Amino acid sequence: MCYAIPGKVVEISNKIVTIEYFNEKKKARNDFFELLPNDYVFAQGGFVIQKVPEKEAISIIQTWKDLFFRLQEKDQILTLKKDNIYELANSIRKEHLGNSCCVHGIIEFSNYCIRNCLYCGLRKDNNKIKRYRMSLEQIIKLSEYASNVLGFKAIVLQSGEDLWYTDEKLLKLVEEIHKKCSIFLILSIGERDINLFKKLYKAGARGILLRFETGNENLYSNLKEGQELKKRINLLRELREIGYLIFTGFLIGLPNQTFEDIISDIHLTNKLGAEMFSFGPFIPHPETPLKYIPRPSLKLILTVIAKARILYPESKILVTTALETLDKKNGAYLGLKSGANSLMINITPQKYRKMYEIYPQRADVELSAKNKINKVINLLQSLGRAPIDLGLNLKQKA
Ligand code: SAH
Ligand code: SF4
Repeated sequence: MCYAIPGKVVEISNKIVTIEYFNEKKKARNDFFELLPNDYVFAQGGFVIQKVPEKEAISIIQTWKDLFFRLQEKDQILTLKKDNIYELANSIRKEHLGNSCCVHGIIEFSNYCIRNCLYCGLRKDNNKIKRYRMSLEQIIKLSEYASNVLGFKAIVLQSGEDLWYTDEKLLKLVEEIHKKCSIFLILSIGERDINLFKKLYKAGARGILLRFETGNENLYSNLKEGQELKKRINLLRELREIGYLIFTGFLIGLPNQTFEDIISDIHLTNKLGAEMFSFGPFIPHPETPLKYIPRPSLKLILTVIAKARILYPESKILVTTALETLDKKNGAYLGLKSGANSLMINITPQKYRKMYEIYPQRADVELSAKNKINKVINLLQSLGRAPIDLGLNLKQKA
């Protein structure tokens, strides 16, 4: 976001470039720019999203320099202790990925959904919810604002599975945003035809956020109206083959889910080649069949984050809004201290945000994007984290 530091290209090997930030080197994929060594770029999520004129880049780097080293020192001090698995995970995060932290924006553009997932407040049988759809123009304008005014470098466009957005509309949306904004564009629109995803890739989308929800086949088909887990997993594999960076993961605290299920879900996330691990607590919604299921404990979620970090030291792990909702005061802070290193900021217009009720009482639903940005900046600085790209995870398994 506005809080981002450019880096200098020091090596180019086909589409993979090595970028230097102060004393650290990170890899990123470059699909869109003609680059030469010594060029300056912004990268986000392991992706080069903007070439920056040298003068401008050097001036931003100068303003950051002192603060960056102070943050690094703070992170160093905060990760000295390894007395429990949370501290151990946090120190592994620092060893492998330094104090970088990715911050993505999310726009929730429609809460209509043709599906009936038992856990979700947007399920089609919930007729208590007020539905909304943003027009293409609204979404494009908001993306431009997020990118060009607020300074976000990565944006997730999320919705229920809403077929009002036809293939043509989605294509137009991605083309326009790609033309007008320098951002890493990530789509989270559920399951659509693979040919559409191919076209959206060509139009400029480069990330897909699609959780497999649970790797337990029975649980999956019970929770998703008889659908097959295999289909979702195949789609994720095909999307990766197209070239998309995959953000995936699972829900924690589902009825009849065991701790063994959760551990094997961590492994499955890695096996799917997730560029970003996205897992979080299931939070019951009063208008769904799962309304009486208790929320999972904060300790369980933090333990899963720590386990994922220890098992896969190079991974990028997201603090989800659901974790922030589980503990509104400290959820994000504790997640980042247990091995996580990425955050999302909701930039959906406030009137719609309240209606995007996947689960109730979501964290910071009333907070403006600008205020949330400030809150996140303060949080990251208190933890010694810097807005340097986390780099591409080239150690991912195929
Ligand atoms: N329709 C798309 C994207 C929107 S839903 C899809 O399903 O992929 C985004 C995510 O919200 C889902 O992947 C699910 O993991 C999460 N979600 C749904 N209901 C939830 C609940 N009650 N608590 C926590 N997360 C929930
Ligand atoms: Fe629809 Fe996604 Fe919610 Fe399922 S989880 S009901 S697909 S919005």
